[in-house]
Amino acid sequence: MNSTDSVEPRHLLEGKVVLVTGASSGIGREVALALSGAGARVAIGARRIDRLAALVDDAPGDVLPLQLDVTDSASVQRAVTETVAHFGRLDALVNNAGLMQSGLILGADVREWQRMIDTNLLGSMYAVHAALPHLLDTRGAVVQVSSTAARSASLGSGVYAATKFGISAFSESLRQEVTRRGVRVIVIQPGFVDTELTSHITDPTMQAAAADIAASMRTLRPEDIAEAIVYALSQPDHVSVNEILVRPTDQVQ
Ligand code: NDP
Repeated sequence: MNSTDSVEPRHLLEGKVVLVTGASSGIGREVALALSGAGARVAIGARRIDRLAALVDDAPGDVLPLQLDVTDSASVQRAVTETVAHFGRLDALVNNAGLMQSGLILGADVREWQRMIDTNLLGSMYAVHAALPHLLDTRGAVVQVSSTAARSASLGSGVYAATKFGISAFSESLRQEVTRRGVRVIVIQPGFVDTELTSHITDPTMQAAAADIAASMRTLRPEDIAEAIVYALSQPDHVSVNEILVRPTDQVQ
């Protein structure tokens, strides 16, 4: 028997406060809705504040929209400070904001590399750095939205995969630093999810390849990943779900 047995889904995360980065679309939006549906109070951060306003209307519970650029450490610090000022505590950070600009290494526009590293890797590190003192207070959790690209790189995904491999290294080091102090580190590795992620690819060949992959399978929906995150966050305190890999059934690699 664990403490989640016979608990209404609405109450699984009652009393918890969660900050979700990249909540304006895709996985982040559905995670915020699912957490709110499970009773958490949720701070939602992203650059497109108009999208966040729409999410506030759709969420069943108390949701705080925050304009956030994860590439700017001061903006990240502000978002954490405002979350704690508004809700009084912070129990979990869902580090989800991310960007994928696939392309070959030869002849690449290195500004795209910079953007991916700044957003996916440094941005998620800034968020952990800002949130950690509060998570230590609440014996909370960090959810890192990584990728199957953190397990094996493929042609054209070198820099994106490097950021996700980097998240794995950082997360394991973080886990060893804080787990005995009650903070749980959860790495989620989704396969192909139907979102706006591929819309930022500027290389037409890579863009077409991404469209072909999407058309070749029943992709995951953002809700599938949101459910995995609610599951991990609603385990009893002594259970640390450190890694969840979720692929579409049709995805071979
Ligand atoms: P989306 O493009 O739909 O969502 C990306 C989110 O990140 C948006 O809300 C965007 O908000 C936010 N974001 C991007 N840059 C910044 C920034 N500088 N500051 C703050 N927020 C930012 O894609 P997904 O939902 O698919 O991506 C979410 C995460 O899931 C990413 O980390 C991605 O790598 C990961 N993932 C996705 C997979 C997929 O197949 N879709 C597979 C595996 C992992 P805004 O533009 O408003 O700032």
